[in-house]
Amino acid sequence: MKKLNVILIGIDTLRADHLGCYGYNRLTSPTIDELAKKGVIFKNCFAQAPATAPSFMSIMTSRYPTYHGIGENIGGTGRVICRMYALDPAIPTLASILKKNGYQTAAFTTGGNVHPLMGFGRGFDYYSVKHGWTGNFRLDAGKRILLSDDPRRWIRENARENFFLFLHTYAVHNPWDPPKRYRKFFVPEAEERLIVPLFRNKTKADRAHRKQLSEQTRGDTYHTLHSFVNPEKPEDVDCLKALYDGAIRYVDECIAALLETVNALGLSENTIIVFTSDHGEEFMEHGMLSHLQLYNELLRVPLIIRAPNLKKSVAVDQIVRSIDILPTILELLHIRRIPPVHGVSLIPASRKNLNLLAIAETETRGCAVQNKKYKYIYPRYKSYKIRTDELYDLEKDPEEKNNILFEKPRIAEKMFSLFEEELHRENLTPPRRKIMYLIK
Ligand SMILES: [Zn+2]
Repeated sequence: MKKLNVILIGIDTLRADHLGCYGYNRLTSPTIDELAKKGVIFKNCFAQAPATAPSFMSIMTSRYPTYHGIGENIGGTGRVICRMYALDPAIPTLASILKKNGYQTAAFTTGGNVHPLMGFGRGFDYYSVKHGWTGNFRLDAGKRILLSDDPRRWIRENARENFFLFLHTYAVHNPWDPPKRYRKFFVPEAEERLIVPLFRNKTKADRAHRKQLSEQTRGDTYHTLHSFVNPEKPEDVDCLKALYDGAIRYVDECIAALLETVNALGLSENTIIVFTSDHGEEFMEHGMLSHLQLYNELLRVPLIIRAPNLKKSVAVDQIVRSIDILPTILELLHIRRIPPVHGVSLIPASRKNLNLLAIAETETRGCAVQNKKYKYIYPRYKSYKIRTDELYDLEKDPEEKNNILFEKPRIAEKMFSLFEEELHRENLTPPRRKIMYLIK
């Protein structure tokens, strides 16, 4: 019997509040906004890490990073050898579960921190890694915006099967390198002002500066961004945001092309579309650029689910998490035998309060726990910026500017114990850790 297909779209580095359907004032996302109208939009979905590998692995396994073992991104130990963790073979993934249930499975990714050898490839019949910032999100020869034909061709070839497709791109990750029209889309001078000196190495001096930085930082984008942009100058930061927003608009038009294919094949009524991200991007809200901290501009991600067996135009305000995606998809597919996981199905979320707690953890940047009222952040190890523990009253201070830890240390203790309880709630077996070295 034909079951529902699943398309999971994971746009790397997409913060929720830069999309129209999450209240943004620029027209970055007409297609995604339309998708939200036809499905359920979760207004407060939180990622389990502000880093690609641990966050996407939490989506794929419905486990917290401690329990899937991919606690950090691929770490550079030199310019040719990188260290990475690999998923314990005993842990099932969304793809491996769907494969066992008779699905054809394919992933079209931009690689890097969703490298197939880390365990992301498990359960997929086909796992494409197309390097470059936009990956499979590319222009066709006629200059009309299209996804590269690969995922669309794969859908056409598998239209009669039950299929699961995972799409991933770094197209909105810095250095924001979509086609020219989109680099100029919101602030035309942004490209000339920033991206040319930053990444295009137009002049000899730029090239020399870039080379020197690259040697000093081993290609660390955080240091590169900071060295070209004056973070104290709001106009520089506004230009970065305009480039980011242009890249979002580009991705939105690529998704329109994908959905056109799904519609043209008559698949929209039997395909679940899940749209999400792994973490956001920060633009000096807390003194830094890129995505290295645990504030909500980095942890709050979009989550939209359009499914034929779900109500349309529903907005859910309560806290949900990336780990809840897997159990929700499996319930929508009526797959009852599911492995022990940390997440819960979000199907009842529109009618009852699930009282969920959102936690995030990384090995080197610290951890965070939040409910509707409070958020507690603590550094687990020395981070880029050594700092004290932080406590915020999210109702009075949603932007996390006023640390009230010293006024309410008992609340911080309570939040920490909630974090520990939640992390170890399911009593799952800790994974066997495996380290691999990737030679570039
Ligand atoms: Zn990422």
